[in-house]
Amino acid sequence: MPPLTFFQPGAQPDDASQTCPICGKGVPASPRYPNYVCSACFVEAADEDGYLLDFHNISMTGGFEAVYRATRQRRDSHICYIRGIQCYANEARFGGIVIQPISDKS
Ligand SMILES: [Zn+2]
Repeated sequence: MPPLTFFQPGAQPDDASQTCPICGKGVPASPRYPNYVCSACFVEAADEDGYLLDFHNISMTGGFEAVYRATRQRRDSHICYIRGIQCYANEARFGGIVIQPISDKS
C-alpha cells in the first residue's frame, strides 16, 4: 500500500519524518498537509454510525466525493471518523484525497 493517499510532487516513499495523527506511523513529510492520516487509517474512515466510506476525485481535474463503501451511495459531507477521531476529508492540491483530523485548537 502506498504511504500517500494523495499526489505530492517530490514525496519520497521511504520518508517517515512525519507522523500519522491516528496510529503514529511514520509517513512522508508534507508541508501542505502536516497532519494527514496514513493510507492504512484512510481505509478505516467511517461515518458517525460506523459505516465505511470511500473518497475519490470526481474527475481528472479534481473535485471531491464521499460514498459508502458497501452501497456506493453518495454521502454529502466531508466529515468522517477514524478510530473515533473526527476528521475532514477533501481533495488534495495536486490530486487524490487527503484526510486530516479536525483540530479544536482554533
Ligand atoms: Zn495511520
